[in-house]
Parts: sequence; structure tokens; C-alpha cells
Amino acid sequence: MPDGEFGNKKVAEFSTKAFVLFSNDLRTKDNPALYQALQSGYPVLALYIEPEDGLRPRGGASNWWLHHSLNALSDQLDALNVPLVLRRGNAFDILKNVAQETDAKSIFWNRRYDKDGVYLGANIKQWARETGLDATSFNGLLLHEPHSMLTKTDGPYRVFTPFWKAFLSQAIVRSPLPTPQPQKTRPQAPQSEALSDWKLLPTSPNWATGFDANWTPGEAGALTRLNSFLSARIGDYSEKRDFPSIDGTSGLSPHLRFGEISPYQIWAEAHAAPAGPETSVSRDKFIAELGWREFSHHLLYHYPDLHDLNYNLKFNHFPWRSDDQVNHDLEAWQKGQTGYPIVDAGMRQLWQTGYMHNRVRMIVGSFLVKHLLIDWREGERWFWDTLVDACPAANTASWQWIAGSGADAAPYFRIFNPVLQGEKFDAAGDYVRTFVPELAKLPHKLIHKPWTGRASELSHCGVRLGESYPHPIVEHKAARQRALDAFATIKTAAA
Ligand code: FAD
Repeated sequence: MPDGEFGNKKVAEFSTKAFVLFSNDLRTKDNPALYQALQSGYPVLALYIEPEDGLRPRGGASNWWLHHSLNALSDQLDALNVPLVLRRGNAFDILKNVAQETDAKSIFWNRRYDKDGVYLGANIKQWARETGLDATSFNGLLLHEPHSMLTKTDGPYRVFTPFWKAFLSQAIVRSPLPTPQPQKTRPQAPQSEALSDWKLLPTSPNWATGFDANWTPGEAGALTRLNSFLSARIGDYSEKRDFPSIDGTSGLSPHLRFGEISPYQIWAEAHAAPAGPETSVSRDKFIAELGWREFSHHLLYHYPDLHDLNYNLKFNHFPWRSDDQVNHDLEAWQKGQTGYPIVDAGMRQLWQTGYMHNRVRMIVGSFLVKHLLIDWREGERWFWDTLVDACPAANTASWQWIAGSGADAAPYFRIFNPVLQGEKFDAAGDYVRTFVPELAKLPHKLIHKPWTGRASELSHCGVRLGESYPHPIVEHKAARQRALDAFATIKTAAA
């Protein structure tokens, strides 16, 4: 990328309008592209393009989020006198059309690091060179730029710890930008499509009814969440972050995914909060999770087809199951009907709220690829469709991490025992009781392994295995051995 670091470039003068191309940066605060456009003093409008081509359509839960986030952005931009224009189609074509319609001389955007985003950015720059348009891009998404942070041999980082160490030793994290001031007059805007015509919300059936109670998409919702986390929970973060029945994490992931808050704002606020020694340990742990976000974008930039291709090529030979029962087992997993309560609770939390706790994501992911021996891409696709935070970087990198096929991945032979994981991280069974209500009356000793209870004991609690709740879909020991045997077949395979 030639230019664009905030503050390094004097914005060229242009005669009519400038527009800001929004994508995964749906915020007005600490948005370098918007800020710089408004600083220029020229009339500014905002453009959001819904691509109709591209690598991968968004999933349903992300569509739900996007609808509300665009509404919220439109309100925030209104307060700045910046009209938001919505268009659908080929992103580059639309951009050129809008530039023509508005006689724009200048375009601003925050850089993306996914394949489509990189491609679009390069096209805009090329076109700008040919036409004399002023095109300026910024970094608003990440604390680091994947193309500028490389190993000593000029390659991408493949292991998180050296990546994060290098980041912490090199990076100078800028402060968030000042709040932008409204334009004095609202410029004339070209025709915008109606958001409702995009049909991003589910209708028949409306499976997102549980989302409203859990989420407030948009910049204001993101800041509220950050403030409540920093004022009440950051001190206990490292201690509580692994327990799914506790509200111990920030819940910022969908807001970050859609760029309703920037990592710079989080970094600054987290460091500004008063901290004793314990809080600062917790804060560093929290910031390191932002580091995992950075790392996954780093991987995606350097390996753009990560959602589809094994990072570790040995896994191209992995004997994933393809028998008649696979679809049945996949569906049981998707619906939270595996007979393993912690797995089922996680899958149902996902369906009901569009979110799943990180610890449980690891448990259900491991269960799918190891106990059921189903290709990680099936799990990734389901998460892509059902998570409100479904992220092209974090989702793909995490699934590959779980499968053992990814960079810095969990070793394949580490196979979570879902019963022990449940007993360790949901000891009282509160999480299971919330999302698998048919088991709610079971005593602690049975909540993570109902099949070990006597029939009379179960029926006393209203549980009839095979009727009100399924028998385990696989037996743990046998499934574990099958996974290890499958892994052994690729150990010696050529990459
Ligand atoms: P916090 O614990 O408060 O962490 C703060 C922020 O750090 C998060 O909001 C997120 O942006 C980032 N973060 C935390 N953990 C990770 C991680 N392991 N990798 C990358 N970033 C991380 N996260 C997504 O944002 N989108 C996804 O699509 C996604 N898919 C996942 C799939 C699997 C199989 C697994 C195991 C993890 C996945 N994660 C994903 C990572 C993690 O589960 C979520 O980021 C986290 O649960 C979000 O909750 P939080 O905001 O309360 O996190």
C-alpha cells in the first residue's frame, strides 16, 4: 500500500465531494478514513456496498447483525451531517459509478486484509492512478499491518508467541482519534437503496428472536459493552474467562468483527483503567486475546484461502468420514442432540443467541473433528452461518487450530474429553441447565454424564434417555481411539 498512514499524508484538494467507503468499520469514532475525510473540509458522503460477488456470502446471523449495525451507523452519520448511501452489486463497479454520479475527486477507506478487500483496494489505487482521483487508505482494523510485520527472514509469523512478542516490542499503538465534528451542511446524496430491500433479517421462521435480548449492534452498543467490561469484569478476566456460565469476558467480538469499535479504542481504554497488580495481569491476558485476533488476520492475509485449504498440507490426506451416517451425526451436532450435555449446551447457545463461549467453542469443535471425525470445514461453515461474530480470519484460523491443520495448532492427539471438560468448566452444571433445560433437574454428579444414572434416578428428574434426551452419539474411548488411528495415517504423509 503506497500511502495512507494517518497523519503522514496531506489530503489533496478536490473540487466537489469526497466519499468514505465503509466495510467492516461501521463506526464514526476512531475511524481514520471518516475522520480524515471530514478534516478535509470538503463535503463528505458515506458509501456502503453490499457485494453480490466475492469469495463468500455472509452467514445468516451476520446478516442480522449487519442490518442493525447499518441502521445504527446511519443514525451516527446523520448526527455528523453525512448521508449514507447503500448500493448492491460489484463493489468496484459501484464505486466507480458513485464517483461519477457525484463528480467525486477523492475517496477514503480503511484497509481490509481479506482476499476481496485486498483486491478491491488494489483496483481502486490502480484506477485512481489512471484517472487522477485522489484515493487514500488507512489502517483502522488492526493494531498491526500484516504486510509490514514480518519475521527476520521476511516471512509471515506462523506461531503466536513470537508474533505477539514481536508486536509488543515493535508496536507503537497510536491513541484514538478525536471525535469528528459534524459537517456544517449536509451534502446532496445520490440515490440510496433501502436497507429493508436487502432482506438481511430472517422472516419465516424468524430464528433470531433470541438475539435481541443479548445484543445491541452498533457503535453505542459496543462502547456500552466495553465500559461495562472495564468497570466490572476486567480485574477477574484471567480467572473467570474460561467458565461459560459466568459473564467473565468482554462480549466485544461481534462489535469488533463489524468494526463498531476499534482495537485502538479498546487498547487505550483498557490501559487507562486504574489497575493494581492483579488487574494488570488480567488486562495483559485480555489484550493478548486481541493479539490472537491480530494473529488470525495476519494468517488470513498471508494465506487468503484459509477457510477452504488446509494450512498444513498433510491434512489433505486426512481420512475424514464419508459414511452414510455422517450427515446424521453432523445434524445431531448442529442441533445440540449429541447426548453430551456440554456439547449440546454450546450448540444450542449458538443457535439461540448467535454466540458461544470460547471454552465451549473449543469443546464442540474438538468433538466434531475428533469424536465424530467430520471435516473441520463443516464446522467452520456452520459457525460462519450461525455466529454473529463470524469472522473470516478468526473463525477459519480457530477451526484449523482445533483440527490440528492450522498454524500453531493444537496437537491432534490432544482430544478433549467432553465429560471432564464439562465437570471442570461447568462444575455446577449451570450452563448446561440453562441451554439444555430437559436436564435441569439432574444432580451435579449426572449433569455431564446422564447415561451413568439409574433409570429410576433419571426418571425422578424427568429424563428418559433416548426420548427426552439422546443417548451419547459416540462412546468417548472408542471415538478417541478412532481419531488417533486416523491421525496416525497422515503422520508420515508428505506435506
Ligand atoms: P474476549 O475473551 O473478551 O476477548 C476479547 C476479543 O479478543 C474478542 O472479542 C475477539 O475479538 C478476540 N479474541 C478472543 N479470542 C480469540 C481467538 N481465539 N482468536 C481470535 N480472536 C480472539 N472469534 C471471532 O471473533 N469470530 C469468530 O468467528 C470466531 N470463531 C471461533 C471458532 C472457534 C472454533 C473457536 C475455538 C474460537 C473462535 N473465535 C472467534 C474466538 C473466540 O472464541 C471469540 O473471539 C470469543 O469467544 C469472543 O468472546 P469475547 O468477545 O467475550 O472475547
